[in-house]
Amino acid sequence: MAALTGAGMSAESGVPTFRDAQTGLWAQFRAEELATEAAFRADPQRVWRWYQYRRELIAAVEPNAGHRALAWFGKRHSGRLTLVTQNVDGLHQRAGSGDAIALHGSILQDRWLDQPRACCDVRNIEPGAPPRCPVCGNLRRPDVVWFGEALPTRALAAADEAARSCDLMLVIGTSGMVYPAAGLAHVARRQGALVVVINPAETELDEMAHLCVRERAAQCLPWLLGASH
Ligand code: NAD
Repeated sequence: MAALTGAGMSAESGVPTFRDAQTGLWAQFRAEELATEAAFRADPQRVWRWYQYRRELIAAVEPNAGHRALAWFGKRHSGRLTLVTQNVDGLHQRAGSGDAIALHGSILQDRWLDQPRACCDVRNIEPGAPPRCPVCGNLRRPDVVWFGEALPTRALAAADEAARSCDLMLVIGTSGMVYPAAGLAHVARRQGALVVVINPAETELDEMAHLCVRERAAQCLPWLLGASH
């Protein structure tokens, strides 16, 4: 069995999806204008601050019953569930799914923007927003996959393998609009897996799914996975 999760999975924990209106200071920007390499290069400070804001928001919330149910199932039925997430917030991992495949990276970590040189050393970074190498000026950036960037090869290969070999794929809390992640549901369907969408709203994957459960993840997953006791 495989599960593909998206931003809706974390919405109940209080992490807004990209399509939800941005709030406060950030209301004037669309996520697509901040989560790109071009946006970061044009205004590193602004994009870094937006990620700091999101990091603080994530640190203040907890995994919900949906995250916990998936983690519970993964432990209870060892080896039977491959969890693939588009979320970068680490909530699956905090709930106990340490082996979740993070297709879009992790907001909790950062990495060098440009290929690191001999002088680039995290033990010696110049603090700032963003921090930088004091010698060559290379910047730190969040370790997430921005719009227009390729997915990490190993994570995508592992997710693809799960889609090719599962008998059931749960597609939870994702609009199904972001590829290649959404393509995993099609891979699963083509090889004969049952595809079940769990989402309170319509998604792009509804037509290809065998079944759509119009419920919130935190409401549906505990009983569906038998973790509600
Ligand atoms: P999306 O914003 O396109 O879609 C979110 C989906 O979740 C919608 O279909 C919505 O109806 C559904 N939803 C809302 N509340 C739900 C609930 N309680 N239970 C189940 N479903 C619910 O998000 P996406 O499909 O993940 O793709 C957009 C991109 O946004 C991804 O690349 C992802 O990495 C990124 N993103 C991640 C986070 C995060 O890490 N928490 C947050 C925002 C965006």
